[in-house]
Amino acid sequence: MSKAAEFIDSVYQAVLTRNPGEREFHQAVHEVFESLEPVIERHPEYAESAILERVCEPERQIIFRVPWTDDRNHVHINRGFRVQFNSALGPYKGGLRFHPSVLLGTVKFLGFEQIFKNALTGLPIGGGKGGSDFDPKGKSDREVMRFCQSFMTELQRYIGEYVDVPAGDIGVGAREIGYLFGQYKRLRNKFESGVITGKGIGWGGSRARTEATGYGAVIFAREMLETRHAGFDGAKVIVSGSGNVALYAIQKVQQLGGTVVGASDSQGAVYDPDGIDFELLREIKEVERGRVRDYVDRRGGRAEYRNSGSVWDIADVDGIDVALPCATQNELNAENAETLVRNGVRAVAEGANMPCTPDAVRRFQKAGVLFGPGKAANAGGVATSALEMQQNASRDSWTFEYTEQRLEQIMTRLHRSVRRTAEEYGHPGDYVRGANIHGFQLVADAMIAQGVI
Ligand code: NDP
Repeated sequence: MSKAAEFIDSVYQAVLTRNPGEREFHQAVHEVFESLEPVIERHPEYAESAILERVCEPERQIIFRVPWTDDRNHVHINRGFRVQFNSALGPYKGGLRFHPSVLLGTVKFLGFEQIFKNALTGLPIGGGKGGSDFDPKGKSDREVMRFCQSFMTELQRYIGEYVDVPAGDIGVGAREIGYLFGQYKRLRNKFESGVITGKGIGWGGSRARTEATGYGAVIFAREMLETRHAGFDGAKVIVSGSGNVALYAIQKVQQLGGTVVGASDSQGAVYDPDGIDFELLREIKEVERGRVRDYVDRRGGRAEYRNSGSVWDIADVDGIDVALPCATQNELNAENAETLVRNGVRAVAEGANMPCTPDAVRRFQKAGVLFGPGKAANAGGVATSALEMQQNASRDSWTFEYTEQRLEQIMTRLHRSVRRTAEEYGHPGDYVRGANIHGFQLVADAMIAQGVI
């Protein structure tokens, strides 16, 4: 083991000891650290300034009680989190996740990823993340509203346009952002639109923000494919999930001439060999808050519902060119990766955060599949959130076309810089190393410049 590798391992061991039981956080740290040996060798100042130790320790973590009353007058208690991880590049920025699986370790893993993702966008935003173990599924609008108001009553002490700017994530869409923003405005008595992103277009939101993460992931995949003189035209694609990221990934693939033959939710998958009908799926998921099973019932034709196995098994039936995991962390394992490789997958871009297990990533890379990690491939969402902040600061509202053009520029530039860094460090085509190293260096240099804080 080199001296640099020994040093990195000692910091990692300390992370394990200091953060017991936070499996996903450990995984995210390990995945970044794996890329850093040559960086520490070239830049001993990072070790001397304890950048690795500092970057793994959130600047601040807030945990709070969220009491709320349901429609039958029963009182419930949930737990709220906000992890303000790193502000070297700008105010903390990252979404809120409402899902029963949310623990402090979940929020820390997402916040840690967010630091480097936000750096990669080239925009002035630091890294943070938050959420709650509240499950909005099956709750009435009024229940969700009361929960959001209670959550924000506490969170408002810690956020602000120049401090920390939350947004949506799993379980937090336009409805939740509206209730959260409304309560913030009421408590602070000011229309501080830059305090939260993902707002409605009529009250400070940005056009193309809803579409941005899914569109961005497809643009990133398109750029990867172009390096091998391939593209989406005529390609068969599987997308996992059917939420915000998945839906707009499906739409963008179709705009580029590809066919999406599979999508899913947490209960099952849909196989539609004629191509997912985007408008029907959007209506069911976004408007009616239904399930993919409803899609199959309404679509008819050759669409099938599968409530066992994985959406990735569809590759066995239909062969596959591109896989876009857009649901949740660790949803695509080594076995799924094997199925995809066997069936000809050429590119995988992570629309979700860390959806592929480390074994799955290794399998793709060993097979020479182009692999775009989430911190690069799904950065279009937070980048467009930063564009929303720009519009709010200048009291302006851009057109859809202009905003999408900015997203396109950001994603193609991001792809280029990640690719260039991988080459510089002797691993051409390795987007995992390229993203980790480039993101880390941007943050590390700013931390050194700002002193030991
Ligand atoms: P949504 O809540 O809109 O959609 C999530 C989708 O994933 C749903 O279809 C959901 O199914 C499915 N899903 C959730 N948990 C599981 C699970 N345990 N097993 C299988 N399927 C599951 O969230 P988003 O689309 O916003 O987020 C998806 C991913 O993208 C997350 O990893 C998020 O962190 C990441 N991301 C999101 C960004 C954004 O702008 N929204 C930005 C960057 C990353 P069901 O409806 O049944 O729960």
